[in-house]
Order: sequence, then C-alpha cells, then structure tokens
Amino acid sequence: MRVEMTCPTCGSHEISKNGRTRRGKQNYKCRDCNRQFLENPQWKPKGKDTLGLVNLLLLKKIPLAGIARATSVSDSWLQDYVNACYAAVPKTAAVLPKAKGKLKVQMDELWSFVTDKGNKQWVWLAMDADTREIIGCTIGGKRSHAAGLSLQGIGNRLVAIIACCV
Ligand SMILES: [Zn+2]
Repeated sequence: MRVEMTCPTCGSHEISKNGRTRRGKQNYKCRDCNRQFLENPQWKPKGKDTLGLVNLLLLKKIPLAGIARATSVSDSWLQDYVNACYAAVPKTAAVLPKAKGKLKVQMDELWSFVTDKGNKQWVWLAMDADTREIIGCTIGGKRSHAAGLSLQGIGNRLVAIIACCV
C-alpha cells in the first residue's frame, strides 16, 4: 500500500507501510533505497548542550541514574555512552623513562577492614616523589610487616623516605 511520505534518506515518495514496531508504531519502508523509518520518531540525536552537560556531570561523583534524570536522557543511552567512552580510552599505561641514579621515594599508607572488622589490612604505596608514579605497593595484615615488604621492593635505589611511619 502506497502512502504520501518522503524517505528521510533519498527523498523518494515511493513509500509503503512495513508492519509495526514492537512498540506498536507504524513502520514504513522506502521502495527505492529500502530505508525503514517511523513517522515523527521520538528519538533525536543528542544536542551539543546535552552532550556537554553529560560530559561535565560524568566528571563529578554523581550516579548515572542521577545524570540521566537531570539531563533527560535514558538510562540505557547513558550506559551505552559511558561504555563507548571507556572503550575509547587507550589500554596501555605510559611509563616515563627514569634517569639513573638517585630516586626520591615517598611512602603512603592506609588501612581498611576487608569483609569484616576482624580483618584489618594495611596498604602501603611507594611513589616517585617527583612524578607521583606508584613504584611499589604491598598489602599486609600487620602494619610493620607491610612496611618492611615495601622497603624491600624498592631495593637499592632507595635514597630518601619523606614520609614514613613505622
Ligand atoms: Zn529512500
């Protein structure tokens, strides 16, 4: 059955009805280029303003559901968008070349209960004081044990520890 419509792709008027979508809307098909389309589709490309706002909010610690509500995008669109952003991030870590000789190391520690309050674990990080790169890490049940392993890991390049609590 022929209908009076224009194909959004090629501009042809040779359009026929082509069943219904799963949401019950009439689907049309162009006889010239086979493009299928809906009349007055609800989906529209996201505007620059919306994308800019979404990008800005993604940098804050806001749940995705909150961002979707504030910007009037669907949860599924936002999740797909975030997945695409993550996929575009290079998976290789760049390690800066190190000069030979002295290395100034800064130590940091933190602890957390793991699973329950009877299991306190210490995490020690050793950082290059100049570049802030993590050069050593260890996790242990005792504070002094963890500290000892960290220092071993850095080896004979250890020159100065700026912040170290043992
Ligand atoms: Zn067409």
